[in-house]
Amino acid sequence: MDKIIEEYQQKFARFFGVEWAFAFWKGRVALYALLRALDVGRGDQVILPGYTCVMNVNPIKYVGAKPVYVDIEPDTFNMNVNLLEEKITNKTKVIIAQHTYGYPCEMDTIMKIAQSSGICVIEDCCLALGSKYKGKMVGTLGLAGYFSSQWNKPYTTGLGGMAITSDRELSERIESLTTNEICSPSSREVLMLRMQLIVYRLFIFPRTTAMAQGLFRYLTKKGAIVGSSSTSEFEPVKADDFFKGMSKMQARSGIRQLSKIEKNIAHRRKIAQLYDELLAAKDLKPGRDFRGWAEPVLVRYPVRIKEKQKALAQAAKAGIELGSWFECPLHPIETPLASYDYESGMCPEAEKAARQVVNLPLHPRVSEKTAAKTIEFITGFTLS
Ligand SMILES: *Cc1c(COP(=O)(O)O)cnc(C)c1O
Repeated sequence: MDKIIEEYQQKFARFFGVEWAFAFWKGRVALYALLRALDVGRGDQVILPGYTCVMNVNPIKYVGAKPVYVDIEPDTFNMNVNLLEEKITNKTKVIIAQHTYGYPCEMDTIMKIAQSSGICVIEDCCLALGSKYKGKMVGTLGLAGYFSSQWNKPYTTGLGGMAITSDRELSERIESLTTNEICSPSSREVLMLRMQLIVYRLFIFPRTTAMAQGLFRYLTKKGAIVGSSSTSEFEPVKADDFFKGMSKMQARSGIRQLSKIEKNIAHRRKIAQLYDELLAAKDLKPGRDFRGWAEPVLVRYPVRIKEKQKALAQAAKAGIELGSWFECPLHPIETPLASYDYESGMCPEAEKAARQVVNLPLHPRVSEKTAAKTIEFITGFTLS
């Protein structure tokens, strides 16, 4: 493995105070590696919240296991732990604790339930880099954690993923899996990714994001850029080159991002607090409960509104950056839910959140002025 990738892995592991970190092409590939290393396969079940991204479900289907969805609690958008035990069967092998938007899950309860049934817990930290649960960083509480550095995650390397663990046996299994099976990104893919990062740096400002997203989608369809998801990823069939490692370019970018991480986190905290205050000033309660035990670092700030589609359409026109996560229980709206073992009505709170929640940006380019403008815009719509 290249030195620069090793350096990124070491620095990432050190930031979390864990023993090992393994870099991959995408976050979903990190999850795939973890499932394979844990020997999850045909006939097994994997529990996760029914409020996620379909790309997160693909690895479960790729290894032949069945995803089992738990509904969310409405204030944190995380797995409702009161509904967890009833989902466990003798086929359950893994629980994926997804820290949605950056809010930590109730890890103590999840760990207790998992341990009493001999089940592993993997933390999905793709939206939660630096969030703390009872003083500990998320990703370090379960057996393993995984992260994404795709372009709208806590920081971006264009695309990118990382798995972390302090479990020696698991790390050895990941190591041997990557040694034997992983493929390298092609030079064409790396070149396209480099171009995307340049486009990202130039265009992803709150005012131009909607336009840039449209451009990204268009170019992805035309095959001109490596989209974060290809059309073939909307069916649960693994592509031959799915299990892919990280490029040096991504690692170099990751090291740079990681060196600025404290600033990134402080900024996210500051803007989230500003959103809280601005909403409170309008007598609007932010839609969740902070709870003493959690110190969230949010990737985006979720707000429930009544006219989601209308707001998204008008925001795009007005140059207001508004996100649509998650558009359905298995984002995005195009997902053929039945192919992923989701039946309508399975997770009513998640379906409701999908209809109501839009999210506001918190990334380093959001100024206090932009934040205030975004709140002005959003309060023009009926909040739930
Ligand atoms: C983005 C995301 C993933 C997958 O990350 P990629 O790098 O896009 O593969 C997994 N889980 C959640 C919750 C995500 O938001």
